[in-house]
Amino acid sequence: MTEVENRIQALSEELRQHNYSYYVLDEPSISDFEFDIKLKELQELELKYPEFADPNSPTQRVGGQITKNFNTITHQNRMYSLANSYSKEDILDWETRIQKILGDVDLEFTCELKYDGASINLTYENGSFVRAVTRGDGFMGDEVTANIKTIRSIPLLLKGSEIGTFDIRGEIILPLKGFEQMNKDRIEAGEDPYRNPRNTASGSLKLQDSAEVANRPLDCLLYQVVAEKNPFLTHYETLNYAASIGFKVPKTIKLCKNVNEIINFLEYWDHKRHELPYETDGVVIKVNSLHHQEELGYTAKSPRWALAYKFKAEQASTILNEVTYQVGRTGAITPVANLEPVELAGTIVKRASLHNADQIEKIDLRLNDKVFVEKGGEIIPKIVGVDLAHRGVNTQPIQYISHCPDCGTELLRKEGDAKHYCPNEFGCPTQITGRIQHFISRKAMNIDGLGAESVELLFKNGLIHNFADLYELTKEQVMPLERMADKSATNMIIGIEASKIIPFEKVLFALGIRFVGETVAKKLARHYKNIDALMDADYEELIAVDEIGERIAKSILLFFSDKGNCILIDRMKSYGLNLAIDESLLADQTEKLKDKVFVVSGVFHVLSRNELKKSIEDNGGKVTGSISKKTSFIIAGDSMGPSKKEKAESLGIPMISEQDYLSMVQ
Ligand code: AMP
Ligand code: ZN
Repeated sequence: MTEVENRIQALSEELRQHNYSYYVLDEPSISDFEFDIKLKELQELELKYPEFADPNSPTQRVGGQITKNFNTITHQNRMYSLANSYSKEDILDWETRIQKILGDVDLEFTCELKYDGASINLTYENGSFVRAVTRGDGFMGDEVTANIKTIRSIPLLLKGSEIGTFDIRGEIILPLKGFEQMNKDRIEAGEDPYRNPRNTASGSLKLQDSAEVANRPLDCLLYQVVAEKNPFLTHYETLNYAASIGFKVPKTIKLCKNVNEIINFLEYWDHKRHELPYETDGVVIKVNSLHHQEELGYTAKSPRWALAYKFKAEQASTILNEVTYQVGRTGAITPVANLEPVELAGTIVKRASLHNADQIEKIDLRLNDKVFVEKGGEIIPKIVGVDLAHRGVNTQPIQYISHCPDCGTELLRKEGDAKHYCPNEFGCPTQITGRIQHFISRKAMNIDGLGAESVELLFKNGLIHNFADLYELTKEQVMPLERMADKSATNMIIGIEASKIIPFEKVLFALGIRFVGETVAKKLARHYKNIDALMDADYEELIAVDEIGERIAKSILLFFSDKGNCILIDRMKSYGLNLAIDESLLADQTEKLKDKVFVVSGVFHVLSRNELKKSIEDNGGKVTGSISKKTSFIIAGDSMGPSKKEKAESLGIPMISEQDYLSMVQ
């Protein structure tokens, strides 16, 4: 083995171990910074010596592969549903039924929580991850391998291969904290928050860009091994073994000797489950002996050896005191139910979301109604109904507001939009401060020394009316304000000054253009390189940019068609903010591929598809999606589609490998 190969292996092994400690054991063994340095070293080595790159290398976690159509794959073993039960009697009946089939044997059970996400089947061959397929209809599912590879807690190489080739099944989930953070970011970007973790997790599996999946804090909890040759006799031992070779198997699993122990488990977790970092909606009870499982077999829909017990959705009833209305930074109005505080699923609930006017009408909500609140999959509790038996006489349906609670402007409701909007974009205080708060936020200008409350204070005192005004603030102006002192005022001014070096893509995000979130801002910055080019772009040009759709393009055009916004941008230029990408980034760019048109197809090893595309563009070339006479080269990766190959051959377009390409630009 060469020295380089050794180093690549050692780095990979080390990174794999750190990933395992961090994402499976939840015990970080190295700082993020050190991890990144090692990862970078590995990436560089793989780039330089592609012959040693491994498709299961830790560098593959960042994603970048684009899947336009997911292949349908037939499951080796069908993925069944589970029979449901709702009471202790149901469980006793089930036990009696299986005892009858097995002939009164000594039975053992396992109890696991029923993790609420999307089921997945992972295939491993000789200790390596090869494929991931969604459950689909149970017989066939979609292959989502590239996306699944980005989930750090799923091992790509196992620490043992005692069961040879096998499938392992689990649930892809979005832990609550990560879900909340994702929603915070979305709200900051002016987008509607996701409704619940389960749907968001399952939607993530079918995203086309695996780099986007890599950005989501997904996790995978495993619950069943399906193997031809399993040396273990019980489900419990098999799962323990799976944990020992690198899989994340929740420790909440318990071995139970009888139905009483099962019931104890159910009662314990009925409440305790609210302390878990992810959502669960029940318990799955399984017969432990694999031999017994085999004997029991399956009904048309589900295994006879397993039973799901569903927790009741937590509900509480309380009084509706008031409906208030929040104005978002984009002017969207959200009605909020203010409730008599009540305990629900381990927390005190005082407010519930009502979504929009239709929702209120649908449940015919009235003040002082006794309402039922539920915490289902959603984080924010919702009102599911009204207890009509307790409704007072002479109550009136709630009148939805017609004017903005903040500025008094008449609200608008666009066709096809469930929400009301305050159209007073530039005069509505909450919208103004909301935009400035977005501007200074962590993922935007990240201004230290200036928080959301200070923004309100500055605005109320007439010191700022928009984010450009921040750059004209002086310490003398700020000092006399409430709760301000020499030090805090100095820090604020220093923080604002320091934000002038924030890169263009973040400044673009900070502008708060509707639908231009972090990722879109990055794409636009890379593509247009400076604000003037972006402002000059017309609709056709915008939608031609990778991943910029109609909705985003229209929103960008609307933003720049506003004179006030253009003035703000001119002012930002004059203060020296970055309204173009850094020259040193441009320095990496060449004209080597000028006038060359590339089609990129298949799976690559050294660069991800996105990196490959970026490299082509950085070197002055163009990337298109389909092969035509204008195509100069096709960069063909593994498993390139046969129809593309045929077309390339018939048109006589040269097909080159990733290696050929790399030497072309080196
Ligand atoms: P259902 O969709 O209600 O028929 O329930 C079956 C699904 O429960 C399976 O497809 C799994 O995705 C999911 N599930 C969650 N946790 C477990 C677990 N511990 N054991 C088995 N299945 C589980
Ligand atoms: Zn308003």
